[in-house]
Amino acid sequence: MDTSKLPSASFPTKYGTFCIYAFKEGRMEHLALVKGDVCDKDDVPVRIHSQCITGDALGSLRCDCGVQLDHSLEYIGAQDYGILFYLGHEGRGIGLFNKIKAYELQDKGDDTVEANERLGFESDMRDYGIVADFLISFGVRSVHLITNNPSKLDDLTRKGVAVTQRIPLIVPPNKFNAFYLQTKREKMHHIFG
Ligand SMILES: [Zn+2]
Repeated sequence: MDTSKLPSASFPTKYGTFCIYAFKEGRMEHLALVKGDVCDKDDVPVRIHSQCITGDALGSLRCDCGVQLDHSLEYIGAQDYGILFYLGHEGRGIGLFNKIKAYELQDKGDDTVEANERLGFESDMRDYGIVADFLISFGVRSVHLITNNPSKLDDLTRKGVAVTQRIPLIVPPNKFNAFYLQTKREKMHHIFG
């Protein structure tokens, strides 16, 4: 990837001013919000957030995405430099329509992994290799990754970006997402605390 050829623009937010980049991966559209000058830096704070319209924009309490996004932008916005990736991986890659179908199954008793599998998908269809391509184009060789999800660390490391520190992102559960968070911990090996 050559990030200098991507569309980019100044992006003032309530968390500070970023430079926003858009890029594509097949039919998926991704964004990167870059704070400050990250070129050729080590240990760059990075959050990889997967798009979740229901949680990010509509205030859903079925998941923890909205609060995670808010905390991550606040954290990166307060640093001299850092990047938040906003990847078009709606519903862990199954899309919005299928995510609501999976919610319907969860209302009938499935957990989030069982629901995705009943619909014929893997529990998690996401791949983070393109993030490594973006980072390498900026000369970023190592990151401090804000995540509870170990598979993000593995994907970046495999593609040549070292994760020198993991910054946990702890959001207290609510009564609607406690079971969802428990499933993420037990079946998807997310690390909480
Ligand atoms: Zn969500």
